Amino acid sequence: MSVQEHDLKQDPPCTTSLGNYLWSDPPDENKWADCVHCGMCLESCPTYEQTGQEQHSPRGRVHLIKSVAEGKLQVNEQFIDPVFQCLDCRACTTACPADVDVGGLIEEARGQIRQAMPLTGLKGAVSKLFLHDLFPHQNRLNTVGSLLKFYQKSGMQKVVRKTKLLNIMPQHLADMEAIMPEVKSPVKKKYKDVKVIKSKGETKREVAMLTGCIMDVMFSDINESTINVLTRNGNDVVIPQNQTCCGALHVHAGDRDMGRKLAKQNMEAFEDFDKIIVNAAGCGCMMKEYAELFKEDREMHAKAEKFSEKVEDISKHLHDTGYEKPKTEMKTKITYHDACHLAHGQGIRQQPRDILLNIPGVDMVSMPNSDRCCGSAGIYNITNPEMANAVLESKMENVPDDVEMISMGNPGCMLQMAMGVQKYGRNQKIVHTVQLLDWAYQKEDGVKEGV
Ligand code: SF4
Ligand code: SF4
Repeated sequence: MSVQEHDLKQDPPCTTSLGNYLWSDPPDENKWADCVHCGMCLESCPTYEQTGQEQHSPRGRVHLIKSVAEGKLQVNEQFIDPVFQCLDCRACTTACPADVDVGGLIEEARGQIRQAMPLTGLKGAVSKLFLHDLFPHQNRLNTVGSLLKFYQKSGMQKVVRKTKLLNIMPQHLADMEAIMPEVKSPVKKKYKDVKVIKSKGETKREVAMLTGCIMDVMFSDINESTINVLTRNGNDVVIPQNQTCCGALHVHAGDRDMGRKLAKQNMEAFEDFDKIIVNAAGCGCMMKEYAELFKEDREMHAKAEKFSEKVEDISKHLHDTGYEKPKTEMKTKITYHDACHLAHGQGIRQQPRDILLNIPGVDMVSMPNSDRCCGSAGIYNITNPEMANAVLESKMENVPDDVEMISMGNPGCMLQMAMGVQKYGRNQKIVHTVQLLDWAYQKEDGVKEGV
């Protein structure tokens, strides 16, 4: 069904429409203006690698997005499939000599698609449940976390796994259950009555911290490690209680209105701080790009640009402000995976590697194509499991055999890589870079034995 055939009564087309994009906030013409169709981006694209099809390449996607703007193509299946098969990994922008922002175009095009053809039926209900009713509400997420904790601790998980009850679930959901990390208590809740978590030594600065939505349910131990590392290095840490989900999952799914709503809430929550520390690459990248969501609102656009300047990945913050190098040996062989939204999205590659290299005893083995997407891509591994699995398989082929750990800076990648380890019979431990630094400090302090 095309937009023209679709019932348009639900949302009046706006004045900023462009060709066959009938709603506000259409793809930005300036983003494709520099594309000269050279094809230098093709080899970098995981979906082109898998399909060999032009429409699943960056160049092909740019062409399709432009064709709709020129009125040559309608918003129909032929358009939707390539747009939603994109991982939004940004590898093409790194490869492109003209810096064409294909990921940004994809997100804007998805916004148009979801307004033209809102998800209905089961897909619509599931999308609403997660994107509207769950992720923006930390209390509800915490309840889910408590249920998962009960499931893990009560022995129910063991029974479910033993009785093969998981066989009735779709395979990719069963795979996810198998790698679910141990759920611990969320740090936002833990520090809800603490105004400032004081630096362990002399205070050099104050920073605010994003605790994230799923991050604080599934990986609150990484949030704890982030606080430990920050406070050890002269940072007073504040966790604003009115912060919310960054909105990345919403924007990737085409729900830009919800993305804007969450962006506004976070901009208010972090207004009084000069530095906002983020330990999840996807969230950091989104928060640095909030201005993209307000292209049609000059005042909010300017505010968002100012806000984004304050957002900093933990590895870059440590690198730029200086931090205590651990002194005790960790003795481990490790490789590093570049999360797309850290390497391609934020240009952060060396800083996390330096953190690992500065831990005595850590033997770093480089991973070929370390900045190739792992297939996680937000909720892509749930919405596009076949392509996500194919991309993961390629990724796992590049993981060196003899390493004990794979380090990275994004929770989505951690889950996906854990799935890869499990699926392909590997035995590496998946760690966040800041976690390893925290463990090194703990070992030095005699709190933690080994790793
Ligand atoms: S996106 Fe960049 S690399 Fe790809 S075809 Fe266009 S100009 Fe060339
Ligand atoms: S963002 Fe990634 S998947 Fe999408 S076109 Fe670019 S390289 Fe391909």
